Amino acid sequence: MLIDGESVVDGGDGTIEVLDPATGQAVAHVPAASAADVDRAVTAARRSFADGRWHGLAAEERRRILWRFADLIAANFTELSHIDVVDNGMPLAFAEWEIRSCEAWTRAAAGLATQIFGRNASTMASGGGTNMHAYTLVQPVGVVGLIVPWNAPAGNLMVKLGNALAAGNSCVVKPAEETPLSALRLGELALEAGIPPGVLNILPGHGRVAGQAIADHADIDKISFTGSTATGKHIVRSAAGNLKRVTLELGGKSPAIVFDDADLDAAIPQVAMAIFANTGQVCFAGSRLFVQRGAYDKVVAGVADFAKSLKIGSGFDSANLLGPLISSKQQDRVADYMQRGRQQGAEVVTGGGLLDGQGFFVEPTIFANVHRDMDIVREEIFGPVLVATPFDDIAEVVAAANDTRYGLGAGVFTRDVNKAHSMARAIDAGNVWVNCYGTIHPSLPFGGFKESGWGREMGAEGLAAFTETKAVYIQLEG
Ligand code: NAD
Repeated sequence: MLIDGESVVDGGDGTIEVLDPATGQAVAHVPAASAADVDRAVTAARRSFADGRWHGLAAEERRRILWRFADLIAANFTELSHIDVVDNGMPLAFAEWEIRSCEAWTRAAAGLATQIFGRNASTMASGGGTNMHAYTLVQPVGVVGLIVPWNAPAGNLMVKLGNALAAGNSCVVKPAEETPLSALRLGELALEAGIPPGVLNILPGHGRVAGQAIADHADIDKISFTGSTATGKHIVRSAAGNLKRVTLELGGKSPAIVFDDADLDAAIPQVAMAIFANTGQVCFAGSRLFVQRGAYDKVVAGVADFAKSLKIGSGFDSANLLGPLISSKQQDRVADYMQRGRQQGAEVVTGGGLLDGQGFFVEPTIFANVHRDMDIVREEIFGPVLVATPFDDIAEVVAAANDTRYGLGAGVFTRDVNKAHSMARAIDAGNVWVNCYGTIHPSLPFGGFKESGWGREMGAEGLAAFTETKAVYIQLEG
């Protein structure tokens, strides 16, 4: 663990055995933080905030240090990518995209550090004297808890951490118990970059112990959480104790919608990778495919052929586009959904099973003949499982696409610019991609409607989520 700038090897909650999901074998052991460890980290973070060793620096200095942090991420690109392949099982190309994104997000956050401005209202009469100067101050929230999941271990952390630090907060981070390794390495690099001790504390640990201690802690001012909707709701309840600010990036059941006027040959691999990338363990995975009736057979057959052609195995073999699921627990969960899909009457177009041998592998799977009430249509599976449905017109597909408690992403494939804009307005989702899927720009906000979360990460909105705004009134003489 990293607490107050020191490496701590004994965790009060014992040890976590970290497995390589491609083999099921242990690759590392890390300490598991207890509530007392969390308390020590919060005390260190609070001390660092109170003496202003980070937020008290000139914004240009914070920018310089964050830029150096990004340089170190770039300099350690291969090591960081390999750590997430071993820890999460993802294909190396996906890990490389993730670490390149970490670098880009950190550079974007560095730039934002010098763009934190208030507003002013210097001529003001109502409720005060006429010679009043009033303005807003934008300040860091204070001590923030960052809790992240395992599906993109470095990325899920850095998308929060850059902006949290740019705004001047002190941080207590809890990586997922399955994937603590890249967070620990990033903590070392942050220290090397010049982020002062105590400002960034990294505590691997179990959700119900260390995560819960962060959610409950009376001296944490804000939680930024990425994970399941169920845990997000639980954190909201825990955070009510001291009314922590809460940002939530949660689950999804995102639609990928193909109109019959689309470039189908271009759309097919995109909608396939919208669900199969990272073995379906992506919050914005396009897990519900809707295809206009005239193109339905061609697109479903094309996605099925694509699925069958995917090479599956170790992330270190560049031929493999699909890695394992994260754990045997996740493998059982995905298998259970496949079973329920069959029992509830869905037709298996391709896949539908686990792969024999070591590691937590499953087949990329497509179900057709599905109904809105089936579990595989309603619930987030977080595996490579796609449900396909035909539609006839825009009104029908908008209603079907929005018939979910989630609202994270949506893909729309069409050559008709009017349809593209209409769909972008009509879909209840925080991100809409037209003729592409899953693109993320560091200056644009990312987040969800409905039960996909609260608030946004990245860009100006992501920075604002780590600040408080104060109104200041000064009565001038004369
Ligand atoms: P999870 O909710 O089980 O765990 C996420 C994190 O929360 C882990 O660090 C875990 O230890 C911690 N946690 C668990 N119980 C806790 C508690 N009581 N108090 C505090 N912390 C606790 O989620 P998961 O299954 O590991 O991750 C997959 C989920 O994450 C999916 O639903 C996926 O859609 C979502 N996700 C969302 C986004 C997004 O940006 N919207 C990104 C990635 C993943």
